[in-house]
Amino acid sequence: MSKYDFDLFVIGAGSGGVRASRMSAGYGARVAVVEERYLGGTCVNVGCVPKKLFVYGSHFSEDFHDAAAYGWEVQPPRFDWPTLRDNKTREIQRLNGIYQELLDQAGVTTFTGTAEILEPHQVRVEGKTYTAEYILVATGSWPYVPDFEGREHVITSNEAFYLQDFPSRVLIVGGGYIAVEFAGIFNGLGADTCLLYRGPLILRGFDEGIREFVTDEIRSKGVDLELEEQVFRVDKRPDGSLSVHTIDGKVFDTDLVLYATGRRPKTEKLGLDRVGVKTTREGAILVDDYYQTSVPSIYALGDVIDRMQLTPVAIAEGMCVASNLFNGTHHEVDYAAVPTAVFCQPNIGTAGLSEEAARDFHKHVKIYESTFRPLKHTLTGSSERTFMKLVVAEENELVVGVHMVGPDAGEIIQGIAVAIKAGATKAQFDATIGIHPTTAEEFVTMREAVR
Ligand SMILES: Cc1cc2nc3c(=O)[nH]c(=O)nc-3n(C[C@H](O)[C@H](O)[C@H](O)COP(=O)(O)OP(=O)(O)OC[C@H]3O[C@@H](n4cnc5c(N)ncnc54)[C@H](O)[C@@H]3O)c2cc1C
Repeated sequence: MSKYDFDLFVIGAGSGGVRASRMSAGYGARVAVVEERYLGGTCVNVGCVPKKLFVYGSHFSEDFHDAAAYGWEVQPPRFDWPTLRDNKTREIQRLNGIYQELLDQAGVTTFTGTAEILEPHQVRVEGKTYTAEYILVATGSWPYVPDFEGREHVITSNEAFYLQDFPSRVLIVGGGYIAVEFAGIFNGLGADTCLLYRGPLILRGFDEGIREFVTDEIRSKGVDLELEEQVFRVDKRPDGSLSVHTIDGKVFDTDLVLYATGRRPKTEKLGLDRVGVKTTREGAILVDDYYQTSVPSIYALGDVIDRMQLTPVAIAEGMCVASNLFNGTHHEVDYAAVPTAVFCQPNIGTAGLSEEAARDFHKHVKIYESTFRPLKHTLTGSSERTFMKLVVAEENELVVGVHMVGPDAGEIIQGIAVAIKAGATKAQFDATIGIHPTTAEEFVTMREAVR
């Protein structure tokens, strides 16, 4: 009989925490999970899922336009924000219920409230104390808004999902994937959209060719992209509208300012200092390859360790911890070639190394590229283009990076990511027969290296 109330006490029922809880319970562990806001965490409630629903919603404006070239007579369409917002919220509530059922069925005890770690084996939730052999911190991250005058007038992605009224004008600050995706959403839904970023090029960390291509596409869709601009003040006018002042003296008038300037690990008030769990200066919990912190009984994973802020990564880490603690394994998560998508319009899909990273790792690199107008748009007159790119290491002909901007890029790259993971060579890509007529076939028909 264990001397603890639980074998595992998980703090945070998000992507990583829920998966670790269910898997651990499946291996026979007595598991509790505590959640202070919403079951399913960021991804389900204010992240991937509602965001993707909004992306679908926003794309209809282009679809209505394109339909005319295919013979459809479309009445001038009208967008109703409360319908989209509330249908989305209903779906999220349904998912919250499913998460509760999944945890119940797995035999996991759920608590509602904010948890705090008191000792290496002790957690307090809403005044009650519980003991556990292991504690797992899976508390995720939170939007970070820097300090400036008028900060109280801006919102973050958390609030964007629940806006009372749809704004006529929006200014988004940031250059990461969340900023770029929201620019596409607001623009597609009909707001006059400005994206303001302090750097010279959006989407830092992605392949440079992709970044440049997507910059042009976003601009040609009508987003006012203001690069190398930094906000220093936001004023609220008597009519409720906002003026955004930049360091260079520019002023942008708008109705809504959304800050998407990164997310910080959510570790405050957890009691980490008290028990000696080490963190970085930004608050990310330091863990080893097995997600163990500086306190042996305490583990951490997902956004709170700030390795890769992605749902499938948090899930993989959750499965790894559960299996290592309760199924006798000694696994590590392999972070190589993790595929990702940016649901801007058109989408980005990517797996493996950017051209720049490949040149750092490999002596010689060959690049294959293709830019074209997708078949669908030969009738619509849309100027939207698709861009595809393969990065090949010359020494062994391995395809080490694959990148795309175009419709359904995420769907296409997910399949190709398997080939990259399996170590496919360029010759094997060439030997694969395409599916015609598709966009994806271009990945197996690019024959001449461009550099
Ligand atoms: C707008 C947006 C779009 C995104 N889109 C994508 C995407 O398309 N694809 C993708 O892969 N990823 C996406 N992400 C990232 C993804 O949501 C996160 O990487 C993922 O949710 C991380 O999972 P997690 O388990 O670490 O944390 P979370 O899912 O954030 O879960 C942490 C949970 O812990 C709870 N919690 C925190 N502190 C306490 C406490 N003291 N006591 C009790 N509970 C606590 C929180 O309330 C939260 O529910 C997006 C994120 C955002 C914000």
